[in-house]
Amino acid sequence: MSLNQKLADLMFPDVTHSPEHFENIYPPRKLNEGARVTRIAPSPTGYLHLGVLFTAMVNRIAAKSTGGVFYFRLEDTDKKREVEGGAEDILKGLEAFGVIPDEGLTASGEEIGRYGPYRQSERAGIYHVYAKSLVELGLAYPCFCSEEEREKARQEQEKMKLRTGYYGEFAVCRGLTAEQAIEKIERGLPFVVRLRSPGSEENRIVFDDLIKGRIEMPENDEDIVLLKSDGIPTYHFAHAVDDHLMRTTHVIRGDEWVSSAPKHLQLFKVLGFKPPKYAHVSPIMKDDDGGRRKLSKRKDPEAAVRYYAEQGYPADSVMEYLMTIANSDYEEWRRRNQKADRSEFKFSLKKMSVSGALFDINKLNDVSKTVIAAMDAKPVARQVLDWAGEFDKGFYDRLNRDFDYTVGIFSIDRGGDKPRKDIAKWSDVPDYVSYFFDETFEIRDGLPDNVKPEDAAKIIGEYLKVYNPDEDKTQWFETMKSICPKLGFCPEVREYKKNPEGYKGHVGDVSAVIRLAVTGRKNTPDLCSIMKLLGKDRVFQRLEQMKRKLENQ
Ligand code: GLU
Repeated sequence: MSLNQKLADLMFPDVTHSPEHFENIYPPRKLNEGARVTRIAPSPTGYLHLGVLFTAMVNRIAAKSTGGVFYFRLEDTDKKREVEGGAEDILKGLEAFGVIPDEGLTASGEEIGRYGPYRQSERAGIYHVYAKSLVELGLAYPCFCSEEEREKARQEQEKMKLRTGYYGEFAVCRGLTAEQAIEKIERGLPFVVRLRSPGSEENRIVFDDLIKGRIEMPENDEDIVLLKSDGIPTYHFAHAVDDHLMRTTHVIRGDEWVSSAPKHLQLFKVLGFKPPKYAHVSPIMKDDDGGRRKLSKRKDPEAAVRYYAEQGYPADSVMEYLMTIANSDYEEWRRRNQKADRSEFKFSLKKMSVSGALFDINKLNDVSKTVIAAMDAKPVARQVLDWAGEFDKGFYDRLNRDFDYTVGIFSIDRGGDKPRKDIAKWSDVPDYVSYFFDETFEIRDGLPDNVKPEDAAKIIGEYLKVYNPDEDKTQWFETMKSICPKLGFCPEVREYKKNPEGYKGHVGDVSAVIRLAVTGRKNTPDLCSIMKLLGKDRVFQRLEQMKRKLENQ
């Protein structure tokens, strides 16, 4: 037995398998030529960040557009940073936005697919097999340096203005012979496993990032840690082993990992794996005081995906918006293909922003208004109810009293060529529809400037005489006009404009008074439809009430 073999056996007494075993268990996937295998691989360290949803969406489209596979892997090796329920939150969050993995962990807790386990914490045995094989080949070694020794070396490097890290002369344990290492292990000294890096800082590596283009960097010469002293892998090592065995073709991840790419490419090479293609997604940016910065977890509530649920943005709005920032020609495509499914858009990684897509909440609101305007009344009513059930109990109760009435509210001015675009999110709705409910009805606007209270009272008085709830829109407006002359108002706006001195106002002012009495507002959707829905009794009551109020002023 060679000394390296002996050392490897001593370091990994529990390992019985060889890498071939896993190569056989996880064979290359049988997919069509060009089909991509992508993944989202978050750590369960907290809430779902918009950036993760964005990257997951991009991964999903990148796979689905080629008939490939998009899977979910949980990178839960850092138990200290793990948050209880973190994985479920992420999975449920992704599911709520339709970013559903084909394989891996799922929101229901089930694991799908034959390339698992998909939780890194359950893959220790696999990492150890590969680490052991590297030790056998002399490509990795145990390092016994303590934290204190490492810290001292780091300070020394800083003092000498050198790059920090375990490389060259600072890679103390690299020089140990197998015998020396065996002796230390037999003495029970704790160790980490390091890569024996074959790289040199003088050499450069070049790779083609699918978003950022050609990238050239110095080769890695650091003997990076592969396994920590508790046997848990580092991200670098787990990434190489997992993405190889899960047969990932495209690693699309946050660009904080670009600088680690030389390490990763080297690891793939040393392990004898074919490297995946890389695409590094720039972070979502935000305008701040004239400058630009990353959307921040601490400063920006909109960085958390939860925010969109709380505010009541339909999932579809958020996804439409994220598509517009993923590929800038999406908006134009959407204008030309209003009814098409998003998946028909020709998404391209190459079209993604290198400097970082800019997040703009006003733009999201615009996109969302268009999405909501195109929905039918019933799904709107259902989604508003769902939202209210969770975030506004009082409103939920009002809405839930009469579902048909609720659908009626959302049917007004819906459909047609020019639907109203005034709801951006469900949290806009309680205020937007407040006048449909007696509990929340209030007069919040004033009379038109040119209408005196006594004239307004007269307008209402005349209207009460002729109000007929059965009238359609055209008849309704004719009725409005018909009461104008005796009140001193002009029934035709055009006539009025020719001779404004001759009248107190025009038919628009007359209907504005009625609108104010019935809804409390200056602007609303179609008043005739509103009055029909409110019903005769309520309309009468509101008109009478306003008339009395005006008479007493
Ligand atoms: N767990 C890593 C992260 O959350 C994954 C990066 C990757 O996609 O490889 O940043």
